[in-house]
Amino acid sequence: MMPSLLEEQLPRLRELFRERLGTLPLNALRNEEVLRTSVRQVHRYLPRLLQVAVSEEAFTEFVIRNRERLLSFSEVFEEKESAVAPSAPADSSTLAAQARSHLVPTYAPKPMVMDRGQGARLWDVEGNEYLDFGSGIAVNSLGHQDPDLLAALQGQAGKLWHTSNLYLTAPAIELAELLTESSFADRVFFCNSGAEANEAAIKIVRKWASQHHPPEKREIVTFHGSFHGRTLATVTATAQPKYQQGYEPLPGGFRYCAFNDEAAAAEAIGANTCAVLVEPIQGEGGVLPAAPGFLKHLRDLCDQHGALLIFDEIQCGMGRTAKLFAHQWEEGVTPDVMTLAKALGGGLPIGAMLCTEAVAQTFQVGDHGTTFGGNPVAAAVAVAAVRKLNRPELLDHVRKQGVRFRAYLEDLNQEHQLFREVRGRGLMLGAVLRPEHEGRAGEVVEHCRLQGVFVLVAGPNVIRLVPPLTITDEELDEGMQRVGKGLAAYRAAQAQEAA
Ligand code: PLP
Repeated sequence: MMPSLLEEQLPRLRELFRERLGTLPLNALRNEEVLRTSVRQVHRYLPRLLQVAVSEEAFTEFVIRNRERLLSFSEVFEEKESAVAPSAPADSSTLAAQARSHLVPTYAPKPMVMDRGQGARLWDVEGNEYLDFGSGIAVNSLGHQDPDLLAALQGQAGKLWHTSNLYLTAPAIELAELLTESSFADRVFFCNSGAEANEAAIKIVRKWASQHHPPEKREIVTFHGSFHGRTLATVTATAQPKYQQGYEPLPGGFRYCAFNDEAAAAEAIGANTCAVLVEPIQGEGGVLPAAPGFLKHLRDLCDQHGALLIFDEIQCGMGRTAKLFAHQWEEGVTPDVMTLAKALGGGLPIGAMLCTEAVAQTFQVGDHGTTFGGNPVAAAVAVAAVRKLNRPELLDHVRKQGVRFRAYLEDLNQEHQLFREVRGRGLMLGAVLRPEHEGRAGEVVEHCRLQGVFVLVAGPNVIRLVPPLTITDEELDEGMQRVGKGLAAYRAAQAQEAA
């Protein structure tokens, strides 16, 4: 391509640079080496965004020659003078090495660094594209860069970021109203994560019991295979030893029961029970829905023994199952307390503990709190997210796409014979590996990633799919084709291993 054609694209190129490099300070852009690296990054997007094919070298020379016109230093970047020494945008391996030396090694991230997202797609800093069927662990339910969430974020970011709960802000009030209008609840407590929402739930039921019952009635019943968070109390509520080992002594007063076992629940829930905490669909434990009637059974047992019922809808809530809340699949059953997080903020950190009026009155001024709870930026985005997630058209879309995903998985299974069962609801699906592939979910997930699609594990034997709820037919088809290639690659690797 001749520079004259690039010249014609100048206004669109300017926009592209503004979007890609807008956060770089002025002195960084005046550094020729940094500029060349940045231009190389933008060059990767040219064919897709501008349908322009030009060599990297010619493009770089063109940009450097026209840098004043393209990068508009005075207009766009003048105020971004930075005292910090400019650094070149790094590649995945440089950043991953930095991560390895600077971060506490609690995670084992994949060896690429994510850069941007759009809809169900993500790109790493090298420009490789992926379909995201994990949604940041069931968080980005409206996909990446949803225009309404972006508008809500930008609108609030330009007004007010934080006040603490010493003062009121409108977004948190609006969000509380929306959540109570669309659920069983009368009141809401805001926090910043799922674990904190469950921590608030645990504290409120304990305090409630302390006001209404003798000291022996403090026990909280939870279920094998559950996951409720990583704080000390929520990790204790999580009835899976692997999350607890090494953190002893654990807080007392938790009792564990078999999930979906009515007789075991009737045995565990009794005079000493102050609350029962349950996920309507176990997420981390393997995408396992409560059996029909189980939640109702728990409700009845709680009523019989004067205990409170808590639903943890942190993963399965907010439209993921094609109803706003997963417990709504079981007619007529409502909890006393419900916890939300993940998709609530559309990607910003926010959690919520919802409860009835009677339970809410347990907490008085000073009984509980958190500095960032109900932060106006997170709450403004959550308002936009809840409005969209609760639309009948979206919930209907989730139902339809859930059916398509399931059919795809069943078809792939005809071919590869890897799964014993596909379970879940809506767009929260788990493919359970056959016994001969037990413990190998991580390998399957990795093969899928190498084919350009992110899926998750849910324990060692289950492949979990929790794509954005807005996923289009095209994204779904393309992603599932990649999943198919991932399954084939896994099988080929297995065959090689066996040979
Ligand atoms: N509860 C459930 C059902 C979850 O799936 C999770 C996270 O995966 C949590 C609680 C903890 O949430 P967070 O990681 O935001 O603390």
